[in-house]
Amino acid sequence: MPPRRYLPRRPPRPQRRKAPVAAAVEAAAAVAARPAGPVELPSSVAVKDLAEALGVSHADIIKELIRNGIFATINQTIDFDTASLVAGELGFETVERGSLDRAAAEAAASQEIVAPGAEGEGAGKPVLFSEDSSADLVTRAPIVTIMGHVDHGKTSLLDAVRSTRVAAGEAGGITQHIGASEVEHNGRRIVFLDTPGHEAFTAMRARGAQVTDIAIIVVAADDGVMPQTREAIDHVRAARVPMIVAINKIDKPDANPDRVKQELADIGVLIEEYGGDVIAVPVSAKQGTGIGDLMEMVLLVADLQDLKADPNRSAIGTIIESKVEKGRGNVATVLVQTGTLRIGDVVTVGRTWGRVRALQNAEGKRVKVAEPATAVEIIGLQELPEAGDILRVVADEKSARDSADTAARAAGSGDGRAAFSLEDISAQIQASEVKELRVVLKTDVQGSLGAIRNALERLNMTEVRINIIRESAGDINESDVLLASASDAVVIGFNTKLDPGAQRAVDASGVDVRLYDVIYKLTDDIAAALQGMLAPKLIEQVDGHAEVRMIIKAGKAGNVAGSYVTDGRIVRAGSYRLLRGGQVVADGRIESLKRFKDDVREVATGFECGIGLSGSPEIEEGDVIECFQMVSEQPA
Ligand code: GDP
Repeated sequence: MPPRRYLPRRPPRPQRRKAPVAAAVEAAAAVAARPAGPVELPSSVAVKDLAEALGVSHADIIKELIRNGIFATINQTIDFDTASLVAGELGFETVERGSLDRAAAEAAASQEIVAPGAEGEGAGKPVLFSEDSSADLVTRAPIVTIMGHVDHGKTSLLDAVRSTRVAAGEAGGITQHIGASEVEHNGRRIVFLDTPGHEAFTAMRARGAQVTDIAIIVVAADDGVMPQTREAIDHVRAARVPMIVAINKIDKPDANPDRVKQELADIGVLIEEYGGDVIAVPVSAKQGTGIGDLMEMVLLVADLQDLKADPNRSAIGTIIESKVEKGRGNVATVLVQTGTLRIGDVVTVGRTWGRVRALQNAEGKRVKVAEPATAVEIIGLQELPEAGDILRVVADEKSARDSADTAARAAGSGDGRAAFSLEDISAQIQASEVKELRVVLKTDVQGSLGAIRNALERLNMTEVRINIIRESAGDINESDVLLASASDAVVIGFNTKLDPGAQRAVDASGVDVRLYDVIYKLTDDIAAALQGMLAPKLIEQVDGHAEVRMIIKAGKAGNVAGSYVTDGRIVRAGSYRLLRGGQVVADGRIESLKRFKDDVREVATGFECGIGLSGSPEIEEGDVIECFQMVSEQPA
């Protein structure tokens, strides 16, 4: 997975203002020291390879990434747009491999691909930045997600919001379910994501996508702040998304909005009345009261955020739903975040790609284009993408295929695991400029929370701050892991354990979970991480797989597996897992490795070999031998 921050979320960077003469001198000096012409980069590149291609240190690249809110390790792969952005910051021009000719053609076709400021720096060449061109930025509609505790009225509120539009006679027909709805208030569009709850929000964020601009937290006035209200607020805060509280069910006789406000204050959500800056709107989803006020506030918060996009660039969006439909094939809803998506565009989407054959809007109408902040169904993708996959328009089918292949390989090889770990913070501290270590803290009993929080707070340093984004007592659950995964946080458990759901989430996300039963061990580890001195952790590196084609009886020494290396390589003295139908049936060390009669150190893909396994497991034809080693994860 690419680093989880998503470029268009970042506010447009102000253009650097320099005195023209100084800038010219600086530019001339930079040009003299740098390769003439743009640096060609592939559609995705490891941080260390980018450093090499540019001839700068790893630390320089990591520093730039951090400055842009992207936390990556040196082995992590970043996509071309990110690489190009970083390279641009370091004064390099870049171009995606194979796209030099395309660039000229596109420039001639007057696509807005010249980065802000590029004209002034006199290179005269187009610079393919992924940044939106500030000259073309226009205000876009806000994208809103509704969250809150079960039964507090999320679905009802969404229905009420949708029906205001129908009631106002603005809808031109039955609204189709495509995963997002559009409503209009005072002539302005607002887009609502149809999947309420923080699960979808966080799952997407964990995959690198952040589509929500404003979160509406629904709290039932007769029930108050409940566990999922708190969870939703944690997620929204961690994502730094502004929230509006909808105090719902005010029609009920036992409604007590003041109690809700008090309970919110107790968990640090201060509404305006209490001197804070969170807007609270009393509503009744059932009776439709307060909905207009709520929309008003959404637009107000949107204005404060100054949401902008560039409709003139090629589109970037996020998949919010996908399904296979009879007669239409793979159907996906994409929320276009910047640029304009058109029929005929070639797109990469996560591990797949396609050519947009048709676009259909939320009213079920066929459209030719989709502008920023519009949800449209697209057909024409080769495979079904996943919610949270990022869609990008690319120049041609070849680059689309390449980029999809790279993404698929990265996912298959485990490269994609970009979970944040204590080692990462350690590495980033070495590269300087880390701002905070985010922590999800779980303890056995409520009483331990304060003690551990205090111990952690004492470790705060000037450069690095510990930010506890959630603390609660109990087992570590799936929601904790998802929150950590989406927020580049680590989970710290004290005298507690992972529940089965959390374990699955850890396996899938690679989140760094540290369990302790002694406080000083916990504080020692964190202190070491904060000082950038944490010893590298051993991680598993899968070298390759071989398929067993024949069993060779080798007497006492046990059987030898006559095998064919299907991917990667098999290494003597490596560890193995024997897999049958996807299940591990044995494991141990690879004791012998032969090509014909010769002992060899390793065998590469496409070759046959004889593999002797420790422990003399019973081998069957068709078994797969996975070869792996434990290596130290190298910090930068
Ligand atoms: P969700 O689980 O958060 O999506 O909640 P629902 O929208 O399904 O609502 C849960 C229950 O609360 C349903 O029985 C709704 O009819 C009821 N409900 C929702 N909003 C209101 C409201 O404003 N007033 C009253 N009295 N009931 C409501």
